[in-house]
Amino acid sequence: MGAPRIGVLALQGDVREHVAALAAAGADARPVRRPAELDAVDGLVIPGGESTTISKLADIFEMREPIDKRIAAGMPVYGSCAGMIMLAAEVLDGRPDQRGFQGIGMTVRRNAFGRQVDSFEAPVRLDGVDGGPFHAVFIRAPWVERVDDGVEVLGRVTDGPAADRIVAVRQGNLLATSFHPELTGDPRLHRYFVDLVRAA
Ligand code: GLN
Repeated sequence: MGAPRIGVLALQGDVREHVAALAAAGADARPVRRPAELDAVDGLVIPGGESTTISKLADIFEMREPIDKRIAAGMPVYGSCAGMIMLAAEVLDGRPDQRGFQGIGMTVRRNAFGRQVDSFEAPVRLDGVDGGPFHAVFIRAPWVERVDDGVEVLGRVTDGPAADRIVAVRQGNLLATSFHPELTGDPRLHRYFVDLVRAA
């Protein structure tokens, strides 16, 4: 089998960085903005950016229903930061009109760390990712306040004021992190997702 075709939802956010990180992890990566482009991929990354804007543009570009359908059909999706918010069944501190996709059974709080610090970096140990803790970059990030049964917690903040907060989860083929692995040059999380797409 060739390289898995993985799209990066290119409505808003740091699309290019994810395309580069996916390519480095062995995927055939490309931006996806139209339903026909979505049809041509086996997995999707929803990048960091601004979830309220991504939500609005998903409607304008008529991508909401196609993405919901693909998720329901089992397509692997990885959401980072704003992408995590777009994959949450429930969002706290969101805008009343923002809406996510068919998502992970979890409640996330938007801009959660903001009350302490806007942006910070911390080591996060990730279940299923070998090679030591991940150097995680958080930028006005959400955290996960609770998960349903069946949602696997992959990582938590280890110390500081936000210690124990959940920042990486997986439910079936859906993966989400509060932080931005595409900004640090560590390919392990993108490799993890590429493997997930390959296995799906
Ligand atoms: N605060 C942003 C939101 O609500 C997420 C920030 C990010 O993706 N870096 O969508």
